[in-house]
Amino acid sequence: MVIVMASRKQEDIDYVVGKIEELGYKAHLIVGTNRTVIAAVGDERGKFRLQSLESLPHVEKVLPILQPFKLAGREAHDEDTRVRVGPVTIGGGRFCVIAGPCSVESRQQIIETAHAVKQAGAAILRGGAYKPRTSPYAFQGLEEEGLRLLKEACAETGMPFVTEVMTCEQVNLVAEAADMLQIGARNMQNFSLLKTVGRTGKPVLLKRGMMSTINEFLMSAEYILSEGGREVVLCERGIRTFETETRNTLDISAVPLLKKLSHLPVFVDPSHATGHWDLVTPMAKASVVAGADGLLIEVHPRPEEGFSDGAQSLKPARFLQLMKEIEPLVHLAGKTL
Ligand code: PEP
Ligand code: MN
Repeated sequence: MVIVMASRKQEDIDYVVGKIEELGYKAHLIVGTNRTVIAAVGDERGKFRLQSLESLPHVEKVLPILQPFKLAGREAHDEDTRVRVGPVTIGGGRFCVIAGPCSVESRQQIIETAHAVKQAGAAILRGGAYKPRTSPYAFQGLEEEGLRLLKEACAETGMPFVTEVMTCEQVNLVAEAADMLQIGARNMQNFSLLKTVGRTGKPVLLKRGMMSTINEFLMSAEYILSEGGREVVLCERGIRTFETETRNTLDISAVPLLKKLSHLPVFVDPSHATGHWDLVTPMAKASVVAGADGLLIEVHPRPEEGFSDGAQSLKPARFLQLMKEIEPLVHLAGKTL
C-alpha cells in the first residue's frame, strides 16, 4: 500500500512510519518534489489494516499498489531515480557510458584501457575480477588482485568502477573496493545474493537474466530495494532466442517498457547482447534512440589476446568512434553526455 502524506513535517512522517511498523510492515519513504509518500510493504494478507491508517491526521489517502514490484514500479514512485556512483550521476537527463574489458587481465591491460575509455568520454570503468564462465577450465578472473588493479586504474584516472560480485561471501570484499556492484545475468535470480547486495546500500548494476521476463527482472530489482538498497540500474543485455548468428537477441523494446514501468535508470549492454564487435555500435545507437540512460561497452586494447569476450570487445579507436556517433543521438534524445 502507499500512504500519501498530507504533511511533509518529519515528526508527522515518523509517526506514520511508526504505525506502519507496528502493523508489521516495512516503511520505505519516497520524498518527491510534489508529495511525500510512504510505501508499506510486507504480507499482502493484512493490507486492510493498513487501510485504517487513512484516519490518521496527516495522511491524505492510502492506496493499493497493484504492480507486484512495489518499490521498483512507478505507482508509488513516479519520479525518475538518479543513481550516484562516486562523482558520476546516472539518470536525470545525463547519458552515461560504462566501459572497460570483460576481465581484468593484467596491470598494463586495465590501466591502458582505463586511460583510453576515459579519454573517449566514458564516465565509469568496468572490469571483471570474478568471472562467471560457462567452463570451469576457462579463466575465472584475477579475484582480489583484480580488485586491487581496478582501484589502481581508478586512482590514476579519477573514474569510479563497477565490477561483478558472484557470491554472498564475496559481497563485503567487493563492496569495500568497488563504487558499484554488478549482478550478472546468471545471478539475476540468486535471491540471497540480491538481498545481501541490497543491504550494502551500494549502487547496483542489475543485468537481465538471459531467460528472464521483464516482470521477473523487475522483481529481482525489488529484492534489492526491499532490503534498503535505493540505487539500482537495470541493464538489458540480450535474451536467448532461437537465433544463433548473435550471442543473444537484444530486446530493444525492454528499454521503453522498463522506463514506463519503473523509475530506475535503464542501460543497454550491446556487447553481450550481440557477441560481435561490429554489431555493437549500431545497437548502441538504437539503444540511445530507444531512450536508454546509458550503455555498457566492452573495450580491450588487443581483443585478439583477450582472456574472455574478445570477439565482442571494441578496440579503443572504435570505442572513440562509437562515442562520436552516439553524441548527436544523445542530444536528439534530450540528454547530455
Ligand atoms: C559481463 O558483464 O562481463 C558479463 C558476464 O555479463 P552478463 O552477466 O550479462 O553475461
Ligand atoms: Mn564479458
